[in-house]
Amino acid sequence: MSNPSAYSLNSQKVAQATEQWLQQRGVTKREIAHLALFLQKDYFPELTIEECEENVDAVLSKREVQNAVLTGIQLDILAEEGKLLPPLQDMIKHDEGLYGCDEILALSIVNVYGSIGLTNFGYVDKLKPGILKKLNEKADKPIHTFLDDIVGAIAASASSRIAHRKQAEREGVTDPPLD
Ligand SMILES: [Mg+2]
Repeated sequence: MSNPSAYSLNSQKVAQATEQWLQQRGVTKREIAHLALFLQKDYFPELTIEECEENVDAVLSKREVQNAVLTGIQLDILAEEGKLLPPLQDMIKHDEGLYGCDEILALSIVNVYGSIGLTNFGYVDKLKPGILKKLNEKADKPIHTFLDDIVGAIAASASSRIAHRKQAEREGVTDPPLD
């Protein structure tokens, strides 16, 4: 029988670890905010980078998002260390085109933010603006097979949150649909 006292989730630690790991893997919240700004600036010309970063923060506060970040980064690191079993080790190391689990994991992030998140995720995945280009450079190390999709998904989710909030603002709604 499992001992219920042996494990207890510490939400604050999960949130802290998420921020720390993103930083350690070379991704700043400001860079993700720049992607969100890129996605929404044509619709909201007055949108600021600070506002985008606030939305990135809100996305990162979600448990589903933290789980995906921690899982994806962990798999990237294990691949860097050569610790995965074959043939998965080589597929993740070489960012195999027919291996789509990195995109699927990232979808667990955009799922929280509806169709605008989904379409924007596909858009930045194709275009690879800003930091996504850097993360996609194929080198032996570091491996960012999962992280590039995760960063794109956080930016796409932040841009969806911005779009919904701006519309709510226009309509004078005090309780926007996406938190
Ligand atoms: Mg990828």
